[in-house]
Amino acid sequence: MKNSIFLGTGNAGKLKEILFYLERFHIFKGFKTLTPSNFDHLGEPLENGVTFEENAKLKSNFFFKATNILSLSDDSGLMVDKLNGYPGIKTARVVKDLGGEQKVINYIFSKFKNDYSLEATFHCAIALIGDGKNLICSGKVKGSIIPAPRGNKGFGYDPYFIPENSSVTFAEMAIEEKLLLSHRFDAFKVLANQML
Ligand code: IMP
Repeated sequence: MKNSIFLGTGNAGKLKEILFYLERFHIFKGFKTLTPSNFDHLGEPLENGVTFEENAKLKSNFFFKATNILSLSDDSGLMVDKLNGYPGIKTARVVKDLGGEQKVINYIFSKFKNDYSLEATFHCAIALIGDGKNLICSGKVKGSIIPAPRGNKGFGYDPYFIPENSSVTFAEMAIEEKLLLSHRFDAFKVLANQML
């Protein structure tokens, strides 16, 4: 479909942010945006890569094959320094396995009983595939995670993550502030430059 872009995510928080960045960077202006909810039985991509970039690419390739529409996917997650990057590419999977973000955070802090915060980095890879495009862009934001949630904005791990040089979590700051500080912003900046 011409002048359409497929956004390969079922995560409502992520989708909202991706739509913000498309507008902010004037990418795909006037394009019709489609998501998995516009299709019946698209299926799920197999995310068996070993990096965020590989998984973002696997997602976009899968959705482009399934829909024949230029596809943009994001693969992201949190890497805790003292755990050699865990949960990393498994960030979403462990939420499912352990039963929620708080359980993942409890599990992480159970390993470091004397720590009240742990250094961590949010990573984001974006893959844009189809119509002759094959772009992979990455971004990250350093910070730390805390054991108990603070704030009610954003999604996912936002209430546990304090970006570097800030005293509040992503979920406590104004939404626009998080949007301009995040790993996803960083990745979209690169994408926007590559599309010039
Ligand atoms: P994915 O959908 O497989 O890429 O999984 C991403 C995981 O990282 C999910 O558990 C998300 O909740 C989490 N995540 C990614 N980006 C953010 C963010 O900006 N804020 C909070 N959690 C995030």
